[in-house]
Amino acid sequence: MITFLDVEDLLDLRSGGQPVVSFYLNTDRSRHTLDQQRVQARNLLREGRKSAEAGPWDETVKAGLLADLDHLDRYLNDLLEPTFPHRGLAVFACQAIQLWRVFNLPRPVPSGVYLEMAPHIRPLTLIMDEYHRFGVLLLDRRTAELYEVYMGEILKLEEAFPASAPPAPVSLAVEHPGSGDRGMSHRGEEETQRHFRHVADALFHRYHRRHYEYLVLGGQQSLLTQFESFLHPTLKERVVGRLAGEPGKTRPARILEETAEIERRVESENERRMVRQLADTAMGRGLAVMGLHPVLEALHRGAVHILLVEEGWHQSGVICRQCGWVGIEGESCPDCRAATEAVGDMADDVIEAALRTGSMIEHVHPTSGLGDHGHIGAFLRFKV
Ligand SMILES: [Zn+2]
Repeated sequence: MITFLDVEDLLDLRSGGQPVVSFYLNTDRSRHTLDQQRVQARNLLREGRKSAEAGPWDETVKAGLLADLDHLDRYLNDLLEPTFPHRGLAVFACQAIQLWRVFNLPRPVPSGVYLEMAPHIRPLTLIMDEYHRFGVLLLDRRTAELYEVYMGEILKLEEAFPASAPPAPVSLAVEHPGSGDRGMSHRGEEETQRHFRHVADALFHRYHRRHYEYLVLGGQQSLLTQFESFLHPTLKERVVGRLAGEPGKTRPARILEETAEIERRVESENERRMVRQLADTAMGRGLAVMGLHPVLEALHRGAVHILLVEEGWHQSGVICRQCGWVGIEGESCPDCRAATEAVGDMADDVIEAALRTGSMIEHVHPTSGLGDHGHIGAFLRFKV
């Protein structure tokens, strides 16, 4: 189970001079069979043991690393079964500091093993970057609840609004005889407005700490419309959807489900916009290319700023195991002259090559329209 709190923990982790084993495995069944995954895992563990033996550490540290890799070996043995549903796996281990953290990932990662003085988290953060952090506010006239939704998980922020709105001061002077009900409802209205202002202020402070990219509001439509007028403009422009809900009553699972639906819509709009921009830029001969040939050329020159790849895209090609060069054909690598190897699908290798040159990766859905432009494209750092 992955939560952003875990990842933030990991980012803050100081290993105190101990090397940490960071292990990534691509477990996307649409690209790699279970057997391939097991072979891959064994190869990585072998590679890890070799690095542990050869590293610049003393015997105790070396023994620790080897024990971590053995632990990982046993863990993977049990884990890599047909029932494992996730598309990527990341494990961080260092027994010297009692670190053992497993992340089941919703997206494939490039496989790899790293023995470094801190957790190797870049592949993990790249996946995290593709998800958006949502604040979900549930509101009625007197109470409010705040949730965070991120990477398919929901977290309730207890005490998000600690001091409830103070009761409205009662002024007898405004209450005329016979208008008791109206007086009451007027006072109720004032209290509601005070409550809304209080919640809107607290949300704004909270936003500065947690950086919600998007906000979802839950409650009665008419109340939400009223509440929005209290929101700071920065927050108002982040409101991307509403859901029906009631603080204290709506179950988190339901909030998560509805927010995920809103996220899919927002994501799909963003992707379509990005693909349109890619196409416009490429056709205007600006800093963008579309289709495999031009993308590979840009990649070889280190010009890819953002790589857009359609999910599920497959393409056979050749790769150089020596330096990581990827191409459509050719018996030897133009970079290092090593013999190339034919692969049935080079999608992961293209992505890994892009990561090595510091590119960002955007996986887009088939609905984004990238299929009309060769399933792959790139925004460039400079013209090629
Ligand atoms: Zn090469």
